[in-house]
Amino acid sequence: MIKLILLKNIKELLQVRDTAPKKLSGAAMKALPTIKNAWLLMEDDRIVDFGSMDNLKEIVAAETIDCTGKTVLPAWCDSHTHLVYAGNREQEFVDRINGLSYQEIAEKGGGIVNSAKKLQNTSEAELYAQSVVRLEEVMKLGTGAIEIKSGYGLTTEAELKMLRVAKKLGDNYPIAIKTTFLGAHAVPTEFKGNKDGYMDLICNEMLPKVAAEKLADYVDIFCEEGYFSVADTDRLLSEAKKYKLIPKIHVNQFNAIGGIAMGVQHNALSVDHLEVLTAEDIKALQGSHTMPVALPSCSYFLSIPYTPGRDLIDSGLPLALATDYNPGSTPSGNMNFVVATACIKMKLTPEEAINAATINGAYAMGLSDTHGSITKGKKANVIITKKIPSYGYLPYAFGSNLIEAVFINGQKV
Ligand SMILES: [Zn+2]
Repeated sequence: MIKLILLKNIKELLQVRDTAPKKLSGAAMKALPTIKNAWLLMEDDRIVDFGSMDNLKEIVAAETIDCTGKTVLPAWCDSHTHLVYAGNREQEFVDRINGLSYQEIAEKGGGIVNSAKKLQNTSEAELYAQSVVRLEEVMKLGTGAIEIKSGYGLTTEAELKMLRVAKKLGDNYPIAIKTTFLGAHAVPTEFKGNKDGYMDLICNEMLPKVAAEKLADYVDIFCEEGYFSVADTDRLLSEAKKYKLIPKIHVNQFNAIGGIAMGVQHNALSVDHLEVLTAEDIKALQGSHTMPVALPSCSYFLSIPYTPGRDLIDSGLPLALATDYNPGSTPSGNMNFVVATACIKMKLTPEEAINAATINGAYAMGLSDTHGSITKGKKANVIITKKIPSYGYLPYAFGSNLIEAVFINGQKV
């Protein structure tokens, strides 16, 4: 049976696109088309129609929601997370406040490698149970499509376990989930001093198994000094191409070592982090299909520089925003905070930040045709805010929960 849900008297309906662009770049990011005093009709999991209240026709809906004083916008598209993980690292956080060094924290049981130990010893069922709590939380915070990476397993078995959990979340929840194989997140203890040996394991064992079980849409690598080199990145992305895994990579978080150009050369869908960016990096991105992705909550939590989003946009490039939700550097999956922080710290306008967190986020997950805008035929993924004076209030009142309701695939969360 078809179920119609009508939202009426919407104070302002945001991100209205008759034909949705795949992505928005440069000056085009400044425009956020809206309809004031609007209505929106959802049929099952799709947006079927919308318009101004002045020409609302007679509609018999199963449910009608009065949105007087409220703003409606597409649900957030979070294109970079590590939402599946085991345990938390708040003790490490406290140790850091108390002045312990990275080495001292690692000796006490902190860091990626130690997160991996914990994950390896956690059952698939328990890992799922822990991850579900986080997924349900971010859905309530307005996220309607999300990418989830492996990378805390660092053994073939544990990497596969993470990806199976991410896949199962996608099977059991209405939210769109894209999965990314990030075996090359860190060199595990067993391979200390033998990074090439670990790269062999990734390329010769992990990748074929991930591909055989169809567990990943994308491949990722932490291209950074002390982790994996540009040459490692070239090798992995070349291997992954054989399995049709598209790259989305971690680059330029602490150092610019040429990883962006390598990503672009391999037609990466996105290059993520970019806190440190050179003129050559910006040049490499010009004219490419690669989406730069900023992760401002990570900069906030680690007190590292913010991605120069202003420079990227002013250079005519696109920009997407994502959370980087993970236990070490960003224990938050709140896209509302990401949008606010992009405005407060990166000097994006509210229009740019909302575009970056919806249409461009969808692009960075290959979901532009179904997510990220209010467009007929797209998924019925919407956020209904509480009564707010204008959409600029969303990033302005950064500490308030301004969401009243979230629909994902037409289902109320
Ligand atoms: Zn990350």
